[in-house]
Amino acid sequence: MRIANLDGRLVLITDGGAVDVERASGGSFGADPQAVFDRWAEFTAWARDLQGAEARPYEITGLRSPVPLPRQIFAIGLNYREHAIESGFEIPEHPVVFTKFASAITGPTGRIALPEGKVDWEVELVAVVGERAYQVDEADGWNHIAGLTVGQDISDRHQQFIAPPAQFSLGKSYPGFAPMGPVLVTPDEFADRDDIELGCSINGESVQKARTNDLIFSIPTIVARLSAVLPLLPGDVIFTGTPSGVGQSRTPARFLQPGDELVTYVNGIGEMRHTFE
Ligand code: ZN
Repeated sequence: MRIANLDGRLVLITDGGAVDVERASGGSFGADPQAVFDRWAEFTAWARDLQGAEARPYEITGLRSPVPLPRQIFAIGLNYREHAIESGFEIPEHPVVFTKFASAITGPTGRIALPEGKVDWEVELVAVVGERAYQVDEADGWNHIAGLTVGQDISDRHQQFIAPPAQFSLGKSYPGFAPMGPVLVTPDEFADRDDIELGCSINGESVQKARTNDLIFSIPTIVARLSAVLPLLPGDVIFTGTPSGVGQSRTPARFLQPGDELVTYVNGIGEMRHTFE
């Protein structure tokens, strides 16, 4: 199943187009894309049985973040071996956790303003929580994930390393620095939900490409480790970490420039397309 946020309304994405959930359900489910995660099991049961609903064509530019206002956003740093090494850190024994503040969320297309600084790209697979998770075993971790979407953990390295110790959250939270989309895909849609290709390119040149079976802490492990401390709430977002190939680790270092087009994809989900200004 694929869902999306079309001009602020929750839709199901089908072969024929977008099905408006509030209309198709006769109001049983509301239009708010964020609210659906509070009734995720009920919603998916309804959607799987749905037949004959009116599907309409839609423009990709009408899509917004499928998760517009989560209560909590978790992000995992240094979660691919080669990226930890290129960043000059040890392979972490415990997940490195920070947040991206919710005002940084934007949709899968559009323009993003560059602050003065050194703005870098980080393709990431994003997992969205369905059922509340508290003190969950790793073996049960996937059962708490509603679906997966494409994310960019856009990062200003100047702000991140402005003074020791490094602080991750602020420099990764300028407006537009947490794009997500274009759709949310349920884990059952993937041939292997633990081995998914992701990558990004700048002006057509590939800069990152990897597979999630290289994650140091897998999605179920992240769910177990985070939920050991605090509850993960329906609609919470987890940026799972970026693979190697970021700009700051290049020789010479490379950062995003006005006019650059960044295309970010995850196989089986789709792509995002952003221009910087
Ligand atoms: Zn990241």
